[in-house]
Amino acid sequence: MPIKILIRSLFINTISTNRFLLIPSLHLLSFVSKANRSFLFNVDRNPVLKAVLKKTMYNQFCAGETEKETKTCVRQLKDLGFRGVILTYAKETVLDNKTSVFHHSNGVDGLSSSEGVEAKFDNNIEDWRIGTLKTLDLIDEGDILAIKMSGAGPSVVDAFTKGKLPPQQMLDTLDEIAITCKERRIQIIVDAESQHFQKGIACTTLELMRKFNHAGFAVIYNTYQAYLKGTPAVLAQHLAEASKNGFTLGLKLVRGAYILSEDRSLIHDTKKNTDDAYNGIAYGALCQHIGDFGGDGPGAQPFPSVNLFLASHNRESVLTAHRLHRQRLIARLPTVPVAFGQLQGMSDEVSFSLLREHGEAENPPDVFKCSTWGSMGECVGYLVRRAVENRDAVLRTNDEYTALKSEAKRRLRSLLYV
Ligand SMILES: Cc1cc2nc3c(=O)[nH]c(=O)nc-3n(C[C@H](O)[C@H](O)[C@H](O)COP(=O)(O)OP(=O)(O)OC[C@H]3O[C@@H](n4cnc5c(N)ncnc54)[C@H](O)[C@@H]3O)c2cc1C
Repeated sequence: MPIKILIRSLFINTISTNRFLLIPSLHLLSFVSKANRSFLFNVDRNPVLKAVLKKTMYNQFCAGETEKETKTCVRQLKDLGFRGVILTYAKETVLDNKTSVFHHSNGVDGLSSSEGVEAKFDNNIEDWRIGTLKTLDLIDEGDILAIKMSGAGPSVVDAFTKGKLPPQQMLDTLDEIAITCKERRIQIIVDAESQHFQKGIACTTLELMRKFNHAGFAVIYNTYQAYLKGTPAVLAQHLAEASKNGFTLGLKLVRGAYILSEDRSLIHDTKKNTDDAYNGIAYGALCQHIGDFGGDGPGAQPFPSVNLFLASHNRESVLTAHRLHRQRLIARLPTVPVAFGQLQGMSDEVSFSLLREHGEAENPPDVFKCSTWGSMGECVGYLVRRAVENRDAVLRTNDEYTALKSEAKRRLRSLLYV
């Protein structure tokens, strides 16, 4: 780890391991993330505020404001030993469920209907298309593009809210992106979002998987949120589709990020239930046995082709899954390909532990760092949302903090010795 990154990580971890520093910092970040602040608190206009945030939070968690900065960061992450990056564009559309107003991370708000949107050509979809293709230009073969479909604006979200496929322009855009990715051997992860739109997102992703995921290789991954009580039923339906139509199911598993805004009754009652659900699905996929799929009882069906992606900062979940996968490979038992992902700047200790988990004759597991790129204003909004989603992991960074401190002491001692 270069010295600059070590010092920055120490600084950020000092804040994040201390509740009394972390909570006010998040409030401050949330305050400056609102676009129409006065000059003093506007991250895009106040150069001093911008410089401080850039050297600290931004560089720790984001890839870059420009294409050049982003490419450099992607290369640095790979030099640290990661298999690749998952890159996403920071511009997001966030629907305020209470007011039905969209907040764009660039500060321009709009109403949640297709009113005013040109029926033939939707500029929001076009902007999203251009941003996504630009993101694609910044990564290489073996990397992953993450997309948040609601970012394409009101007409797409309207369709998703009704549980429908998005307008044809969006379907054409998704086809164009998937064809380009397939040619360049780049995979696409479709993020799971709030339950308000998730049915439409899952339908759209299923169609993409049917079209593009063949010969055991998932170009497209759908995201399954383990904290939802309804996820096993959705997964069983998608496994049945994959089995019937002979495509590879891209199964990206997360716990779920919308616990604060989602209807609480849809989510498991306790954290332990969510943990059990997450670990149960990961175990089932790795052993090729989920429900009737891969079983041998009455009603059993063959287990379809699956590519598994475990996105989590939970050390126990990812290390247990990796060890199970390795044991099954050694014992020549059936299993599925698996990769792992954590956010850039978070749970590095978990990511590096995974990378170290291999014998002399084996390759390290496929570990990806997920990062975002975009202007300071766009990224600050993104950072606030990720910090809230991952607050359990953020406050659980003691192991990482201890490791960073001992590494800093070791380097200081060797410097004094010289
Ligand atoms: C690479 C990557 C991609 C991601 N993509 C998505 C995505 O597309 N969509 C999405 O929704 N999220 C996504 N997330 C976020 C993810 O869903 C989690 O919010 C986050 O990773 C924290 O969970 P964890 O597995 O790291 O582990 P932990 O920190 O052990 O678990 C925290 C999670 O447990 C659950 N939980 C906490 N308290 C309770 C409770 N009382 N009852 C029930 N459940 C509880 C919540 O889901 C919470 O986020 C992504 C995360 C990563 C690292």
